Parts: sequence; structure tokens; C-alpha cells
Amino acid sequence: MTNILLQDIYIQVAIPVPMRQLFTYLVPNALLNDKSLVGERVIVPFGHRQVIGIVISVDDDTPLEKDKLKAIISRIDSDTHLPAPLLKLLTLAARYYHHPIGDVFQQALPVLLRKTEPPKKPVCHYWQFNESCEPTKIKTFKQGRAKKQIQLLRLIENHHKLTWPEIRTLGYTKAQLKSLEEKQFISALEKPIEVYHWQTKYLNESDKLNLSAEQAVIVSAIDQSTEQYSCHLVDGVTGSGKTEVYLQAMEKVLANNQQVLVLVPEIGLTPQTLNRFEQRFNVPIFLHHSGLNDKERFDTWQSALQNCAAIVIGTRSAVFSPLPKLGLIIVDEEHDGSFKQQDSFRYHGRDIAILRAKQLNIPIVLGSATPSFESLQNALTNKYHYHQLTKRAGKSVEAKISLIDVANQPLEFGLSKPLKQLINTTLNRGEQVLVFLNRRGFAPAINCNECHWVADCHRCNKPYTLHRSQGLLICHHCTSQKRIPQQCPDCGSVRIKPVGQGTEQIEEYLTETFSQYSTVRIDRDSTRKKGELAKRLQAITDKEHQILIGTQMLAKGHHFPDVTLVAMLDIDGALFSFDYRASEHMAQLLVQVAGRAGRASKPGKVIVQTQYPQHPLLQDLVNNGYRHFAQQSLTERKMAYLPPFGYQALFRAEANYPSYPEKFLRQLAQTPISSCEIAGPMPAAMEKKAGKYRFHLILQAKSRPELHTAIRQMIAQSQQNEWLNKVRWTIDIDPIDL
Ligand code: ADP
Ligand code: ZN
Ligand code: ZN
Repeated sequence: MTNILLQDIYIQVAIPVPMRQLFTYLVPNALLNDKSLVGERVIVPFGHRQVIGIVISVDDDTPLEKDKLKAIISRIDSDTHLPAPLLKLLTLAARYYHHPIGDVFQQALPVLLRKTEPPKKPVCHYWQFNESCEPTKIKTFKQGRAKKQIQLLRLIENHHKLTWPEIRTLGYTKAQLKSLEEKQFISALEKPIEVYHWQTKYLNESDKLNLSAEQAVIVSAIDQSTEQYSCHLVDGVTGSGKTEVYLQAMEKVLANNQQVLVLVPEIGLTPQTLNRFEQRFNVPIFLHHSGLNDKERFDTWQSALQNCAAIVIGTRSAVFSPLPKLGLIIVDEEHDGSFKQQDSFRYHGRDIAILRAKQLNIPIVLGSATPSFESLQNALTNKYHYHQLTKRAGKSVEAKISLIDVANQPLEFGLSKPLKQLINTTLNRGEQVLVFLNRRGFAPAINCNECHWVADCHRCNKPYTLHRSQGLLICHHCTSQKRIPQQCPDCGSVRIKPVGQGTEQIEEYLTETFSQYSTVRIDRDSTRKKGELAKRLQAITDKEHQILIGTQMLAKGHHFPDVTLVAMLDIDGALFSFDYRASEHMAQLLVQVAGRAGRASKPGKVIVQTQYPQHPLLQDLVNNGYRHFAQQSLTERKMAYLPPFGYQALFRAEANYPSYPEKFLRQLAQTPISSCEIAGPMPAAMEKKAGKYRFHLILQAKSRPELHTAIRQMIAQSQQNEWLNKVRWTIDIDPIDL
């Protein structure tokens, strides 16, 4: 056959290997058909292996030596063809973060796509109310005592259908579901998911609130900018009505048959949030978070791709969901550190979201009570539309922060006397108290009272945290565990004692001291079990507990209307940190935690215990508020050319031997580059972690192009570095902690 059209073609493929390049393969004409190869998965030979790659581009010629090129082995069915804009986004992200492109694809795509078996088409498994069941039977059941089951039944009744991941995220168990099914109140259904088309009945008008003037201005500004890029920063305290703004802005987009992506912090997707979306829009909502299994994640992915999902709500990596009809992106709590991935591909979910909105010419909304300094600066220089919500919706007022000086008074288990009295009077009034301490476990260290030996993790050179309830010492840096020693290994003394407090200890102390009240602890340890967080939050809302103890998990997105006293025990560490962002994070945490108090028209009080009440940072924050504090800090950063006025990248290196990372980075720092400052190499804040010695090098430039040019020069030079094979090294663009 001499069909001239059927000649070989060459493709550029992203392959999951740690190299910053694409690989060229030949596609024999037998494998060609009328479907475009771009965005398709292909199986290719790589070394002695076969790997799955993604086709980035197609050419009918190549500058490479053709007879040396290998041919692809096969194509994988194209139901999972990546849309072109997503390909472009991932390619841009790889370039911006200087990360191996194959790994970018690997991390952005669901695990199931790494298998050669074509994944099954998703079907939607959902639960629905059984219309044919006897009304009297239901009525009796609802008067019964199975409280959670009754709640769940109501929920399923109110919605036409709910999927298992939704039900789980809303805080219910499989057992509760099964029990309702056995009673035949509900039934499971399975059907292929369908392309989503908006219908007016999808909107629950009755739940819609009348917007305040401030809210209305924002919603109309967002509405007006559909089909063009614009970034809106909604700066408003907790409870000021940001979520309502999101919901009403989404309405127009959905009505236009477009999809909405909502990004939330790692533990921000509470049942309360999901409930709000579920109540307002009766549309297919798909979730994407770490609580889902691979299959569930893949279902979300494929439903998004096939335009069956109207809304995708998810954490960081949901930003890579394939949404062919994306019309609006919302990033809630945009300041939250969990949007930045802290290993290998160190992208920032919010920043990628902005990039994506620009690329697609759609609006994006960033919301926060404590905007990141970067976003504030962009708002102040009119790169973003800046909207403030200055009042809390409803009658409630913002809580006032006051300081208790604990430098010269005895503390009992970390609590001062005046604080204890306040807790007491608050509880006596029948209100709830929240005690915040950002340190889980019983105590941050144990030591020997005779010789001052401290139990250190040898892999990290940091003290072990005592987890008394588990009877273990756990290293919070590398998770290694050890039994609690009975005797000091150095002097043999048995006087080994905990030092300092963690949430477990505060819980024990408060439970004893206020024994007539019920105490609940919320931290990563106490909520490890699936559904446990939701359960505990519900119990708080139901006023089963009066004393809440927790870490920053409590500071995220939860509303506790009956908490009228918030006490923060130990925040002083941040006041003297060498990391210039520590004070920003401290201020955000403080304001976020404070925001939990004083809802529902009961005035709230926020107490901060500190050894340094006169510290200018604290004084500024307490007296002048977060925005003033932020502007002050921005002025200081400007003088030092620190971000957002300068641009940074961090080269991190680690190895099993202490000298290698430093030597590697020292040689790297010799790269001839122009117009960038290099600081270091210096030891990382955690100089040793999990047995590895860690160093870093900071690169700082006055413009992004300068920074990226220098990085490219250094990456090229790194190939000749004589320590290259002795270290593991990575690049962190726009690092958020040093
Ligand atoms: P945020 O997201 O800023 O914390 P929300 O949107 O959750 O604020 O609003 C806080 C509370 O105020 C919610 O209970 C919400 O129902 C209520 N609310 C918000 N906007 C309005 C409004 N325009 N009118 C009445 N209540 C409102
Ligand atoms: Zn000792
Ligand atoms: Zn360790």
C-alpha cells in the first residue's frame, strides 16, 4: 500500500521518571487512527521497563536520528484523553516549578490512570429515599432513639440522592446506612452518570439569603466578569458571609451549564460546608480529598472530565481536575498553608488555580478572614479586585483579643489563674470554652530530673513527644516510635518526667478540674478514625461538650456558635522565629482561632497567654487588627526585598552523610549567574530529619524572569556537580517555610 498519508509520526511523551524532559517516540502507522494522539496515554519502552506516558505533542518530523528512536508499544483507550487546556496547565506548572514533567503528570492524575487496564466507566452509586415505604412506619421510626439514623434519613429525604463518599463526609457510617436500607426506608441505586445540564429546579431558592449591600456588590462584580479572567479577593472575618457570596456567584455559572471548582484546605471540608452546598444546589457534586480511596477519586476525576460533575469540591490536588466546562474557581481560606505541597512537586494549589483561571479566561474568587500577604499586596496594587466584608452577618460582633502576661506568674499545667477563673465563670454561665494549643500529645519532651537527659529521636535530633495514652514516645518529624523508658539510660534514675504540655495533658487536667463538665479534644490523634472528626464536631454543636481542646484543626472553618471564650496557651515561639513568615502565620492562626468565638450574638472573648505582652507584633495585632499588621509587615518586607517584593527559590539537598548536601550546594552556588542573590548553603531549620542531613540554598531575585533564568542555569550546571550522585536535591519555588 502506498498511502502517503499514513507515514510514521513522532510524539513527545511525559514519562514518570525524575528527568526534566519529554521523550520522543515513533508511532508506527499501524497504530494510527482518526483520533488525535495528543492527551492520550500510551505504553512505551523505557530502559528495560514498559511505562505509561502521556502524549504532549505530535509532529510528523523530528530533528533526532530516526533509526535510533523507539516505537510505542500500544495506545490506551481514549476515554481518559486529557483535554488540551489541562495538558497546557500541567506543562506550564512543570516549567514554573522546574519539576520533572513526567512526575507532574503522575502526581496530578489519579492513581488508577497509572494502570494499563482501561479503567471502568464510572457508574453513580447513590442512595435514595424509598417512596413506597409505609408512612406510619417511618413516623414511628422518627420518634425513636436512633438519632444519627434519623438525621441521615432526613438528609437523604431532603436530597434526591446522595453518594456514599458524600454521606461519609457528612459524618455518617456504613452501619447507619445499612440499617436504614434493611428497614427499607432507603434503597441503593446504580446508574451510569450522565452529562450534567442545569435545570432551574436544581436551585433551592428557599435557602437563599438576601444579600447585604456589601455582599451584593461582590456577587455582581463576579457575575460581570464571567468569560474573562478576574481575580476577586474577598476579605472578611469568619461569619461575615463569604460562603453565601460563593454560593450566589456559583448560581449564575451553573445556570450557564458551566462547572465550578471549589478548593478548600486539607481539613476544611467539614460536613457543615458540604451541607451548605448540598442544600443549595441539587446538582451532582463530587468530592476530592484524602479520605477517598483510589476508585472514588477516579470516579470524581472521570465524572469531572465527562462533564457529569457540576461542582467539584476538594483539597489542593483537586486543582488538576479535568473540567472541560469550568466557569468559576473558588479558593476558600486562600491563606492556608495546606494549599502548598511540601514534598517533591512543591506546587501551590491557589497559585495554580489563578494560573488556570487566567488560561481559561474565567473569574476566580479567593476568600479569607486573614488573606495571605501576597494576595493582600496584589489586591492593594489593583491586580485583584479587593472586596471587604466588614460586618458579621446577623447580630454577632467580632471578639476582642486580650493578653494575659504569664511571665511572672505560676502556671498550672500551662494555665494561669486568671484564665482558670474565666473558664470557670464562662462554664457557669452555660457557655462553651475553647482552649487552643498547637501541640498534640501529652508533652513535647521527657527528661531525667537528675541529669537532664532528654529522650531524643536519633534520626532527627529532636525530642520525642510523649503520647501517654498510647504508652509511646513518637517523633513528630519522622513518626518513629519508641517505648517510654523506665530508667534514664545515662544515670539510671527513675525520675523521668514529662516537660511542657500537649493537648492530651490539658485535656486530662481540665477534665479533672472541671469534672462536672464534659471535655472533648480535637487533634490529629483523636480524629484519626474515619468519621470521628465529623462525629466530634456534631457533638459540640449538639452541646454535648462544654470544654473544647484542640490544635489548629479547630481553627479551620468550623463554627461554634456557643463558644464565648477562646484561650490560646502558647504562641510565643513565632515571635522570635528566624523565618520571616512565622509572624504572618502566627497572626493568621490567632485571628482564625479568635474567629471561632462570639457567634450568635453572644459576645466572645479571646485570651492569649504570653510571656511577651509588650512585643510589638502582638501589640500591633491586638490593638490595630490583622490588616494594619499586614500592611506594617508588607512595608518591612518591601525594604528587604522579601516576597512579595522579591522572588525566592530554595534549593534543598539531603543525604545520609552530613557533608554531602553542603558540598553539593556550595558547588551549585558557584554557578555563574547574573542578577540574583544567593544565600547559603545553610543548614535547614530541621538540620536532620528521618536520618538525613539537610541543607538549603536561597536564591532571591527582583523579578521572576531573572529568578527563572538563574534556576535554569543552575540546573544545567548541576549535571557537572561532583556531589550530584551523593545527594537528593529538589527545587522549591516560592517556598513558604525555610
Ligand atoms: P463566612 O463564610 O464568611 O464564615 P457565612 O457565609 O458562613 O460566612 O455566613 C455566616 C452566617 O451568616 C451563616 O449562618 C449564614 O447563614 C449567615 N448569613 C450570611 N449571609 C447572610 C445574609 N445576607 N443574611 C442573613 N444571614 C446571612
Ligand atoms: Zn539521668
Ligand atoms: Zn524523628
